[in-house]
Amino acid sequence: MRMETKENTCKNFINNTWVDSASEEIIKSINPANKEEVVGYVQKSTAVDLEKAVQAAYKAKKNWRKLGQVERGQLLFKVANILEENLNDIAETMTREMGKSLPEAKGETARGVAILRYYAGEGMRKEGDLIPSTDQAALMFTKRTPLGVVGVITPWNFPVAIPIWKIAPALVYGNTVVFKPATEAAVTAAKVVDCFAKAGLPEGVLNFVTGTGSVIGQKLIDHPLLNAITFTGSETVGEGVAKSAAARGIKFQLEMGGKNPVIVTEDADLDAAVEAVISGAFRSTGQKCTASSRVIIESGVYDAFKEKLIQETKKITVGPGLNEGIWMGPCASESQFKTVLEYIEKGKAEGASLIYGGEPLTTGEYVKGFFVSPTIFENVTVDMTIAQEEIFGPVIALFKADNLEEAIALANNTKYGLSASIFTTNIANLLEFIDEVDAGLVRINAESAGVELQAPFGGMKASSTGSREQGEAAKEFFTSIKTVFIKG
Ligand code: NAD
Repeated sequence: MRMETKENTCKNFINNTWVDSASEEIIKSINPANKEEVVGYVQKSTAVDLEKAVQAAYKAKKNWRKLGQVERGQLLFKVANILEENLNDIAETMTREMGKSLPEAKGETARGVAILRYYAGEGMRKEGDLIPSTDQAALMFTKRTPLGVVGVITPWNFPVAIPIWKIAPALVYGNTVVFKPATEAAVTAAKVVDCFAKAGLPEGVLNFVTGTGSVIGQKLIDHPLLNAITFTGSETVGEGVAKSAAARGIKFQLEMGGKNPVIVTEDADLDAAVEAVISGAFRSTGQKCTASSRVIIESGVYDAFKEKLIQETKKITVGPGLNEGIWMGPCASESQFKTVLEYIEKGKAEGASLIYGGEPLTTGEYVKGFFVSPTIFENVTVDMTIAQEEIFGPVIALFKADNLEEAIALANNTKYGLSASIFTTNIANLLEFIDEVDAGLVRINAESAGVELQAPFGGMKASSTGSREQGEAAKEFFTSIKTVFIKG
């Protein structure tokens, strides 16, 4: 690969060239299913590297804007085709680098292709509206205009889809980009950037710099030449992004954590609910911002639901994501593994009852990786840590509710509001839920983790800022509107 040196180090991509960092320091990106395997080396870039990337994006922005939306869209079609050609390699790298099972990694990469094609198609769509003027001799219209240089900062849990759903709209609407990936998934991210590189983007349009959040991320968000920041990650870091961007009056978009509830009412299809809870809670080892983490069950079906849930959870195959037949891989990193185990210990210490799992898997084939069994708690009260904080691991808490009102009150009892789901066959129940639940993604008889690329994505309360991602919402974020009046 062009981005690798003889030491398998992924380089920075600045001004259409894969370049070494000014620093010689590197971070190992290791396979969480086998900590002895180094997937690649990631440069710990410096402020000097970041400066070069921002300057390149700044210099490129005028010509990129002038190239026009149609042409920019055509380039994204090329990127989509290249990503599709490299789907298997990129998906395998993702599985090796952050642990998700290979079928899930392939699904995510295919979604990246679809997102690129969606925004490539945007290249052909309207850039404004004709507005009637009171002056018969005048022409008045709106014209969308790019923001300029956009900083893109992403987490490790969707190392292909999240960067693409930010970079593709940023580019098609005429912005240039400086992209800083999460270090834990930077090797995969570099392969995505290579698809853009091979499509022949003009110099400086997309720049990629690896490094730590505290140095490269912070320098990027504070850079005076930046016109907007789009960030997905933790709430703590998001708060800093918001402060820095607000102080300079630039646009920002934050997608952060979740503590997503699923309500199961007495009239629900219990088999469907169990299947959705297992998929929503344990796929990707629970490391999705939309993962189901609290299940609120009406009393009349609590025992039947719990029994089925345990029975089905026992069938989950845990192991290295590249192995055939594996459904759930390891935690993505040692620190994530430790965090999940700490939350499990807190759950026990605070008095919740552990009814399934709750153990690291440390014997046999598991010994080299960061594996945790799927874990279920009951007798959880709202004041407990595991009822309030995002765990980002395969852990769920079961709650009992006497009626829908109580269930919705429990669902809303966290600072987050990303996704929420209900299983019910009663129309009155689901209408009440749609109105009353605090969530940006409201899912009826469907798992909490599910996102369609053409629909707005984002949450309420501490989960997001108001500005949504994806679909038409992306155009709102990545452009501003000029109202043009031409006197005839
Ligand atoms: P994180 O906040 O630790 O890191 C996210 C990114 O921010 C990384 O690239 C990191 O290097 C960078 N960063 C760290 N410190 C920074 C700083 N001071 N300035 C600028 N950038 C900095 O998050 P993570 O552990 O990579 O990801 C997990 C989190 O992401 C979870 O909270 C999860 O809910 C959230 N997430 C949210 C969504 C969503 O759409 N709502 C999607 C996926 C993940």
